[in-house]
Amino acid sequence: MSVSAGNSIVLDNLWKTYGSFVAVGGVSLSIEAGKFCTILGPSGSGKTTVLMMLAGFSDPLRGKILIDGDDVTRLPPQKRDLGVVFQNYALFPHMTVQENIAFPLKMRGMNAAEIKLKCSQMLDIVELGSFSARYPAELSGGQQQRVALARALVFEPRVLLMDEPLGALDKRLKAALQIEFKALQRRMGVTVVYVTHDQEEALTMADQVVVMNGGKIEQCGTADALYDEPRTEFVAGFMGDTNLIEGVVTGKGGNGEMRVEHPTGRTILVHNGTTGVGDQVSVSLRPECVSLFTREGAPPEEPNAWNGRVANVISLGDALRYTVVIGENRPSLQIELDAKVSRRGPHDARFSQGDEVRVHWNASDARALARMKKGGEMAR
Ligand code: ADP
Ligand code: MG
Repeated sequence: MSVSAGNSIVLDNLWKTYGSFVAVGGVSLSIEAGKFCTILGPSGSGKTTVLMMLAGFSDPLRGKILIDGDDVTRLPPQKRDLGVVFQNYALFPHMTVQENIAFPLKMRGMNAAEIKLKCSQMLDIVELGSFSARYPAELSGGQQQRVALARALVFEPRVLLMDEPLGALDKRLKAALQIEFKALQRRMGVTVVYVTHDQEEALTMADQVVVMNGGKIEQCGTADALYDEPRTEFVAGFMGDTNLIEGVVTGKGGNGEMRVEHPTGRTILVHNGTTGVGDQVSVSLRPECVSLFTREGAPPEEPNAWNGRVANVISLGDALRYTVVIGENRPSLQIELDAKVSRRGPHDARFSQGDEVRVHWNASDARALARMKKGGEMAR
């Protein structure tokens, strides 16, 4: 199959409302040709609505959609040169695998010999060559998904849209197909917009992750950037686990550090975030960045070192997750911190429930993020 370069996509201030309800409220986004872009967000955040507008199945109230620089906002779906795989966009049950994949080519009036060739190439790519005469009901869920993918790609679209295509599959199969999708996308050079609520899925496949919340884009970047440098509490919590500690910014330190005061009066040193002096913040601290020490010997000094007690230990297989309670004697100001420690670490660094410990973290691993009030407004 010839490698056709994908097309770039630009969404410019897209809006979609249902009555007075704003499903998508001003989404602007630019996706480079040939990239794998994942739209990630909780259920109801507007992901499907964005994809439906991009596909041409739903008209935006306002805004523009450009594909390869052309304004397609008012073009019908079939004129947009898109492949589409939606979770409930089923295969035709009365057609064989071969007939399903041939369908878009027949619709485009291709001759029989060419259709046969294209289908067999596509069947090879998704590794279903020996299944061509089967009906969808005779295939596993993963095989059906691969047929759906083949059907979406057979006419060599420059853009492939996928909406939670692996939602119904078990974890192992999901992981295998994610890797296959990604490899196939690279080989074909097609631009992919992939919608999911599963952050692991986003991490596996995406060149670019767009985090949506409440009909808006919260942050956009590589998966690593979103994990290491979240700009909001929402992104920090949605891209992996994090500890959130409340406080107020009291000053800027050297080395791009910032001082945050916890309600107990303790000072937390953090890496400079997106906030200013006087702001109410949540300090985000990933569990793998929290270290535990015994109280004997020379445990780390303040700041960023607190005494606590191990309240819980959970085995994660390759790691242990400790929940440490700090300030037990002041219930209203108690802090719970999760620490994730590799199992390969030194054995004397293992703790049990009830152990007295000292927690420590580096300022460079802590981020001060503007706190969200209820309703999504920033607190000041
Ligand atoms: P997601 O795909 O992120 O789960 P959707 O884009 O499907 O979210 O929906 C975003 C919001 O818009 C939801 O609150 C949903 O209930 C609402 N919505 C979607 N489609 C319609 C519709 N046809 N009529 C009214 N509300 C809708
Ligand atoms: Mg959806």
